[in-house]
Amino acid sequence: MTKWVYTFGDGKAEGNASGRNLLGGKGANLAEMSNLGLPVPPGFTITTEVCTYFYAHSRTYPETLQGDVDAALAHIGTLTGRQFGDDVNPLLVSVRSGARASMPGMMDTVLNLGLNDATVQALAKNAGDERFAYDSYRRFIQMYSNVVLDIDPHNFEDVLEEYKERKGYVLDTDLTAADWQRLIVDYKKIVERESEKPFPQDPRAQLWGAIGAVFSSWMNARAITYRRLHDIPESWGTAVNVQAMVFGNMGDTSATGVAFTRNPSTGAHELYGEFLVNAQGEDVVAGIRTPQNITEAARIAAQSDKPSMETVMPDVYNQFVRVTQLLEKHYRDMQDLEFTVERGKLWMLQARSGKRTAKAALRTAVEMANEGLITREEAIARVEPAALDQLLHPTIDPKAPRKILAAGLPASPGAACGEIVFSSDDAEQLKGAGRKVILVRVETSPEDIHGMHASEGILTTRGGMTSHAAVVARGMGKPCVSGAGTVRVDYANETLSVAGTTLKKGDIITIDGTSGQVLIGAVAMLQPELSGDFGTLMGWADAVRRMKVRTNAETPADARVARTFGAEGIGLCRTEHMFFEDDRIVAVREMILSDNEKGRRAALAKLLPMQRQDFAELFEIMSGLPVTIRLLDPPLHEFLPHTDEEIAEVAKAMNASAERLKQRSADLHEFNPMLGFRGVRLAVAFPEIAEMQARAIFEGAIAASQKTGKAVTAEIMVPLVMTKAELDLVKARIDAMHAAVKQETGVDVPYQVGTMIELPRAALRAGDIAQTAEFFSFGTNDLTQTTLGISRDDASSFLGPYTAKGLLPHDPFVTLDQEGVGELVQLAAARGKAARPAIKLGICGEHGGDPASIAFCEKAGLDYVSCSPFRVPIARLAAAQAALGKKAASQA
Ligand code: PEP
Ligand code: MG
Repeated sequence: MTKWVYTFGDGKAEGNASGRNLLGGKGANLAEMSNLGLPVPPGFTITTEVCTYFYAHSRTYPETLQGDVDAALAHIGTLTGRQFGDDVNPLLVSVRSGARASMPGMMDTVLNLGLNDATVQALAKNAGDERFAYDSYRRFIQMYSNVVLDIDPHNFEDVLEEYKERKGYVLDTDLTAADWQRLIVDYKKIVERESEKPFPQDPRAQLWGAIGAVFSSWMNARAITYRRLHDIPESWGTAVNVQAMVFGNMGDTSATGVAFTRNPSTGAHELYGEFLVNAQGEDVVAGIRTPQNITEAARIAAQSDKPSMETVMPDVYNQFVRVTQLLEKHYRDMQDLEFTVERGKLWMLQARSGKRTAKAALRTAVEMANEGLITREEAIARVEPAALDQLLHPTIDPKAPRKILAAGLPASPGAACGEIVFSSDDAEQLKGAGRKVILVRVETSPEDIHGMHASEGILTTRGGMTSHAAVVARGMGKPCVSGAGTVRVDYANETLSVAGTTLKKGDIITIDGTSGQVLIGAVAMLQPELSGDFGTLMGWADAVRRMKVRTNAETPADARVARTFGAEGIGLCRTEHMFFEDDRIVAVREMILSDNEKGRRAALAKLLPMQRQDFAELFEIMSGLPVTIRLLDPPLHEFLPHTDEEIAEVAKAMNASAERLKQRSADLHEFNPMLGFRGVRLAVAFPEIAEMQARAIFEGAIAASQKTGKAVTAEIMVPLVMTKAELDLVKARIDAMHAAVKQETGVDVPYQVGTMIELPRAALRAGDIAQTAEFFSFGTNDLTQTTLGISRDDASSFLGPYTAKGLLPHDPFVTLDQEGVGELVQLAAARGKAARPAIKLGICGEHGGDPASIAFCEKAGLDYVSCSPFRVPIARLAAAQAALGKKAASQA
């Protein structure tokens, strides 16, 4: 019989950390902590299989579940000496969701479940504190109504505010037990009005309501969006955790808090966190009260006048420190912990691997490997390659003048600049229109995920370093300043103001997520410098990876950046990108619009010295590393003159009539330029273009090697080939040019001629083509376009629904379609190798910088990947992880 429910508590558990798929992350870790003998309030986990069952059976439960839940409740009762629903000694529970991966889009938590008009009296009596009991009951009604009954919390907040005003109260703590009792009557009326049913008094009905809400929340819109953004399969489902309540709000010897075993922002090896005396868990996360530091050192550093946990409860603090050390050692990773202190007794509520910035990930990985806690290979695997992007973010130039508007907490590093928006929908809309925005909110909630995603950075006026905004922004790698308390936000008028300065929607601000400053206007930024840890980890990655990493670059600036990021050559120089500048475009247009070879040769003669100089510079920067130069591959429409002015300019240069040029330009118009007169087709029609480029490459190589004293490896690449015959024709011209240059200069430049595999036919005929081609570079942008029959330029208008509806797992232009396009890559690689065993294989489509696609390239046996300069570090790390993954698989 399937086991649907797993209990834990009192030093034992039915599950453990390896049961994550079944118990969810939270459930597995609660079980594991119980097994370690740590103080965990007893409870049970309803498995993710129940969630799967729930959706497969029209939202119903397995037959035996009710009995299993009753038995598990009785088990908690035995351990705590309380009974669920008992009027004398009632057991209260929390109900929390818990998927395999943490999912902020889902229902989170209901606390104090089991309270009703009778049990609240027992709680008051047993705790000896009426005020606490009725405060807990009203919190429960509000929380339950919000997450289970979907009643807007404003209904309750408005009543509370009005009541406080009437009574002349300022803080919630001013309310007495009698006040809360009176408000509870009103709260229950709100529930009855909004849900058309009285607030449920039966604790079992409450519990099943909460369990149903957790499972239902797996399919709410926020959870679906979150899953889509984080590649979490729908089939995973969530678990439900039911756990005996412990109270952090039982007076001044009680507290609740969150902590990280290392600083999640910088990675520094120090206990880091926040807590609140006399509070419940949601008070810390909601950011309504400003929390206190845990350690004295952190309090001093933050210049806080509120005492640290280390000073207010030293014994519990010392016990907590021991627990944190034990957990970090046990899990061999930085831990994110939630705890509660109930009347001087420590309870651990959650342990999970802590979310961290890329900077912190890097530092903790390197330091943990150096401490001997993990291996170097594990350190490599610990850093998410795509997150390295964060380290490459700009920071504010310290020399730049700055007009400080306000200061908040440095919640997520990096600087960002953009127009102020006050709603997530506005953020998304403006981003769609190509604008850069900073999302400004009092505080964020899971409903803001799309807006946070669309913004350059996030500013909140409330909330600590562990508030929603801070945690989510760090995960996304977006700069964030949280808790900028002096900023007043007026949503209705769409303004923010600080001490007399008012800014409105659309005004520009800069935020510095590293210092917490909020600055008026756009402030100059610096490109990032990479830390020692970065170099160390990259060194470890380089030592284990098999594939080389090259860059796609055609400008000297890009090539230099790529070199500093560790590129091992150029994998794609798109020569058509070298022709957009003013002085060149006219010559290129002359070349295209000439209707005879003589005219074309005249234009080419103007371009030759420019190209020679371009190539010489690239070879020089790459200093002996391989450089692959692709022959001209322009979609023609990008180069044709459009305006009369542009036509007149070319006409003048060619000494031709504007009318004729206009006609010629019209003749060259194409319906499908992407499938038109481009790639090798240009060299077939006008071989003199390929000849000019080949000459420029050879002469540039000679110049560079004379200057640097290093041999230059020139790789000439022919694009968009579909047959061997096309390649043969062009290669003959290149070879002839090589012979000519050798004769003229006496220098025999080493070179190779290869091709891109960008068309399905080329992939299929790779065996023939490899008889001529000395290397293949997979142009997966075009190969995706032509295999899927989806225009690269037009995909965005219809691809959205495909990924949203799960018809395609990813945008195939971002992450390689491994089943389709990938099969062509594998097939071409195998056929190419069979024909020419020494053939060199690479990839230079955008997928060359995408970690999942890089893992595929490793499996396909490619020799290198090539990507844009800023993705080179990502590719180095991803290639190392791919090599390690393969090793792990072959050892298994
Ligand atoms: C490709 O098609 O993958 C490629 C690299 O070439 P381009 O993007 O220039 O068409
Ligand atoms: Mg291409």
